[in-house]
Amino acid sequence: MYEMLKQEKAVVVFSGGQDSTTCLFWALQQFQEVETVTFHYGQRHELEIECAAAIAKELGVKHTVLDMSLLGQLTPNALTRNDIEITHEEGGLPSTFVDGRNLLFLSFAAVMAKQVGARHIVTGVCETDFSGYPDCRDVFVKSLNVTINLAMDHEFVIHTPLMWIDKAETWKLADDLGAFEFVREKTLTCYNGVMGDGCGECPACKLRKAGLDKYLAEREGAEN
Ligand SMILES: [Zn+2]
Repeated sequence: MYEMLKQEKAVVVFSGGQDSTTCLFWALQQFQEVETVTFHYGQRHELEIECAAAIAKELGVKHTVLDMSLLGQLTPNALTRNDIEITHEEGGLPSTFVDGRNLLFLSFAAVMAKQVGARHIVTGVCETDFSGYPDCRDVFVKSLNVTINLAMDHEFVIHTPLMWIDKAETWKLADDLGAFEFVREKTLTCYNGVMGDGCGECPACKLRKAGLDKYLAEREGAEN
């Protein structure tokens, strides 16, 4: 990255999970000043928000929580409603899918970023473990970048450090940033609200564990 950017400020879209926490460490290395924003949009997220707040506090970055509970009103799904089970049918969209979620989050993050004098927005979206979310695709992020720049007459740059890497490589990135233990112990990815390595049963835990095991095997292989 250009040295100049190190003088600038970034807003990280932050959920307290593995991906966005890795992005936060990445941003702290890239930019002079970093803030975080978390979106609150359902009952399942109370613990996630506490976790995000605790991480932000520990790393000494400002943390803003924006109320997006209207998402549950628009599209009832497993993340916004406790009475819908989390499932993922082969080839279909998971029941955690919320239409336009990332479109809305990034747009609100951009409004906030301009307010706080930041032009960089960092998000942990990823096309590699393609989960079926169309607004997590690279082409969408690039398109939205143009749109928000036109909408707010501001030169935003949306950064997606995880876009082309898989879960194992995301662990490697955290390790390269000196944050492997921190991310492993202090983040919350589990749908059942179990910190760190999680419940081990839900789809989020299985995905996280598969990546972790793969990375640990590679790391061990490299050491020997
Ligand atoms: Zn779990």
